[in-house]
Amino acid sequence: MTAVLDADEASALLDASIAGTLPDKRGRFGPFGGRYVPETLVPAFERLEQGIARYLHTDEFQAEFKSELKNWVGRPTALTFAPRLSARWGAEVWLKREDLAHTGAHKINNAIGQALLAKRLGAKKIIAETGAGQHGVAAAAACARVGLPCRVYMGAVDIKRQAPNVDRMLRLGAEVFPVESGDKTLRAAIDEALREWVTDPANTYYLIGSAVGAHPYPYLVRELQSVIGREAREQMISMAGGLPDVAFACVGGGSNAIGLFYPLLGDRDIQLIGVEAGGTGDGLGQNAATLATGTPGVLQGSYSIILQDENGNVQETHSISAGLDYSGVGPEHAFLQAVGRVTYVSASDSEALAALEELCELEGILTALETAHAYAAAKKWAKDNPGKRILIGNSGRGDKDMPTLTQYPVRTNANAAS
Ligand SMILES: *Cc1c(COP(=O)(O)O)cnc(C)c1O
Repeated sequence: MTAVLDADEASALLDASIAGTLPDKRGRFGPFGGRYVPETLVPAFERLEQGIARYLHTDEFQAEFKSELKNWVGRPTALTFAPRLSARWGAEVWLKREDLAHTGAHKINNAIGQALLAKRLGAKKIIAETGAGQHGVAAAAACARVGLPCRVYMGAVDIKRQAPNVDRMLRLGAEVFPVESGDKTLRAAIDEALREWVTDPANTYYLIGSAVGAHPYPYLVRELQSVIGREAREQMISMAGGLPDVAFACVGGGSNAIGLFYPLLGDRDIQLIGVEAGGTGDGLGQNAATLATGTPGVLQGSYSIILQDENGNVQETHSISAGLDYSGVGPEHAFLQAVGRVTYVSASDSEALAALEELCELEGILTALETAHAYAAAKKWAKDNPGKRILIGNSGRGDKDMPTLTQYPVRTNANAAS
C-alpha cells in the first residue's frame, strides 16, 4: 500500500508544491512519481531531463513558445460567461475555452511546447503514441509546424475505431504505425513508442500526450499546460471581478486538469475538483475512475494510483469518452489527492451525455465528451452550493465525438417553442 501521509507531512508537502519545488530531484511528488524504467531507457530520460533544465525556462525558449501559442495556437483562449447555464444552475458559471485552441483542445499547448524542445535537443524525428487520436493529431500538427518528421504509434483496435483522426494525422504529414501487440490499444502503443526510442535516443524525441509517465514528463507537461490556469486566473480577476469559489476539470491522464489547477493551488480558498469517468458503474472494468477507486502501483514508469486487480494486473477501463478511458493517472494528481488539496469525483456516461446536451442547448457550445464529465459534476455541486462562482475547464470541442453522439438521439430540447 501507499506510504500514508500524516497531517504534518501532507501540509509540508503541499506548501512545497505551492512554492514550486515539486517534483523533487528524484521526480517525486511526495510518495508519487519517480522513474521506473528499464536500464536501457535511463540515458534517454536523463538526456531529456538535462535538456529541460538547459532550455525550458530560458527567456529565448519561453519567447518562442509564447509566440507560437499566440500566433499559431490562438491564445489566450477566451473566458466565457455562461448566462443561461448560470440561471439554470443557480450559480455564476465561467468557461475556460480550450476548445477554441488550434486543433480543438488543450493538447496542442503541450505538443507545440515539446516539439520546440525537441528542436533544441537536436532531434531528427519525433515519435508519439495516441489512443483516441487527439494527441496524435496535435503532435502531427506541431511537427509539421517545426519541420520534424512525426511517427505515431497507435493500437490496431484504435485505428479502426478512430479512422477520421488517422486520416487527419496522415494529411498533417505524420506516419501512423498500427500496433498489433498486447491489448492493441493505448498501452501497447506506448510500449512500442518506447521501444523505438531506445534504439536511437540521440536522434529521437518522444512526445508524450499527458501528464503521465516517468520523470520528467509529468513535470514537463504541467509546465507547458499551466498557461491554461495562468490565463484563467487573470481573466477571472479582470472579467468576473474575482477568483472562483471552485474550479472543475475532467481527468484522463490529467494534463488539462493540472494545467488549470496548478496556478490556482496557492489560492487556498478555491476548491479544486477533478472529474473522472464513472462509465456505466462502480465495478472494475466499468469505469475509468482511477483516483476514486484505484490503488497505488507502478504503471508506465511512474508510481501513482492505477486500476488493478488484487494480483496487480492492470484492468481494462470503460468510458464513453475515449480521452478519459485510461487505467492510470498522472502522479501529481495522486499527490494532490493525498494531501487533500484537490478532490476527485466521477460522472457517469449518461450524466456526461446529459450535460453535453444541456450546454449545447443553453450556450451554443458543443463540448467534448471528456469535458462533459466536468459539467455533470459541476452541476451537482451547484445544487448543493447555491450562488457560487464556478470555473470550468472546457478542455475541448465535441465535433470529433459526432460518430458517438449520433448513436444517442437528442432527448430534450430546451430551446424548442412549446
Ligand atoms: C485527451 C483529452 C482529455 C483527457 O486528457 P488529459 O490529459 O486528462 O487532459 C480531456 N479532454 C479532451 C478534450 C481531450 O482531448
